[in-house]
Amino acid sequence: MKYDAIIIGGGPGGYSTAIRLGQLGRSVLLVEKNKVGGECLNYGCIPSKALIEMSESLSYLKTLPGVRLSYNIDMNQWQGWKWSMINRLVSGVETLCRAYGVKIINGDAKIVDKQHVQIGSETHQCDSLVIATGSSPTRIDAFKDVMYNKEILDIKTVPKDLVIIGGGYIGVELGTAFAKLGAQVTLIEMLPSILTGIDPELIKPVERKMKEMGIRILLSAKVSSVEKKDKYFVKMESGASISAEAVLVTVGRKPNTEGFGLETLKLEMENGFIKTDKYKMTSERGVYAVGDVSTGGPMLAHRAFYDGRVAAHNIAGDKTTVDYYAMPMVVYSDPEIAFTGSRGQKSTRYPLAANGRSQGLNSSNGFYSIYYDEDGTVTGAGIAAPRASEMISELSLAVETGMNVEDIGSTIHPHPTLSEGIQESAEIAYDKPLHF
Ligand code: FAD
Repeated sequence: MKYDAIIIGGGPGGYSTAIRLGQLGRSVLLVEKNKVGGECLNYGCIPSKALIEMSESLSYLKTLPGVRLSYNIDMNQWQGWKWSMINRLVSGVETLCRAYGVKIINGDAKIVDKQHVQIGSETHQCDSLVIATGSSPTRIDAFKDVMYNKEILDIKTVPKDLVIIGGGYIGVELGTAFAKLGAQVTLIEMLPSILTGIDPELIKPVERKMKEMGIRILLSAKVSSVEKKDKYFVKMESGASISAEAVLVTVGRKPNTEGFGLETLKLEMENGFIKTDKYKMTSERGVYAVGDVSTGGPMLAHRAFYDGRVAAHNIAGDKTTVDYYAMPMVVYSDPEIAFTGSRGQKSTRYPLAANGRSQGLNSSNGFYSIYYDEDGTVTGAGIAAPRASEMISELSLAVETGMNVEDIGSTIHPHPTLSEGIQESAEIAYDKPLHF
């Protein structure tokens, strides 16, 4: 069978390319060896945020004077609910694909050449090939029987004590969630800071809250081995040893580029990723790569969706290009942190404590910063606040459309909302905010 495009991998990158190509009237084959939805839907974004929501709701109630909680978490039952929610989403994506004429084959794809893909005993032909094989956690052999994201998100009981090796966003998010669910969490990071690469000002409220919750953060600390006996023993290079009931490793993710014949295409690579141009095309004409496996943007699902849209349009003959500049980035920590664009010549800072709605959430730990140039053009923003993830898009839009800070400051935001803080933070650039 011949298709306009064959897509290898049914995660956010692959299925978005498939749906958009289907919408554009192209014939598409989507090959997925595990479950459509990929890492994000099954073992990443969706289950981790569901866990974070549960832990956050509980911990919020616990902060309220007069509220006395007596509760029991049956993780087994929760897992059942989680999987039914995920499976509903997965079948929703499959239904959408089919509605747009995308054929889905559940199987392990092997590249024969750029126009032929083998699945089992059958070979399928295409004009364009899209590689959307995603990424996997970096595994360390010296760490025996430890958990990675897939295993911890499927856990059936909350461990009494949990050691997390790796202080990137996944470690911070899951560490905070498990601490709120009652685990004694130790987070070990090899570098001098958690969330390396993020503005240190945004990290401060997160670190403060983690410590307040009793999370032990060990920085500039290197783990040499992990052994499992009756408990886990995490041995440090310093000679110290930490025992725990569970160990999670979140030391990074690596692109999936092996085991499916990619080498036959002899594509140009960059630091292990498939090199793509602004059209998401690889060094080989007619071969595209999207999402975590490709160069260009951060390893995030909304970036993969964006790549998929762009690649699909280019395959269909419209010329579109990627521009990641105003892409929002979020850490679902406590408080959430979200940022976009870049630092301009000037910046504002409006404290979360001055926002009325935040007080009802019993949360004053955070701020809203808007970055702008001398002429008032918004260049970026950074927010540390509850629901920062829901607020940052307004600022990405401002950056994307070249808005002036006054455009934001003079736009009426509803009261009482957390987003009012954005308006008032913008006002600081040219006036006085009302509540600070
Ligand atoms: P993937 O989702 O990895 O999908 C690739 C798919 O390809 C897989 O389903 C795989 O089975 C399939 N595949 C691979 N090889 C073959 C083959 N040979 N044949 C057939 N199929 C194949 N991102 C966010 O934006 N927000 C978040 O909140 C967020 N939270 C996360 C939390 C965790 C714990 C983790 C681990 C990740 C999180 N991410 C988040 C990142 C997000 O999951 C990824 O960026 C996203 O899944 C990338 O999409 P993708 O399509 O490139 O790859």
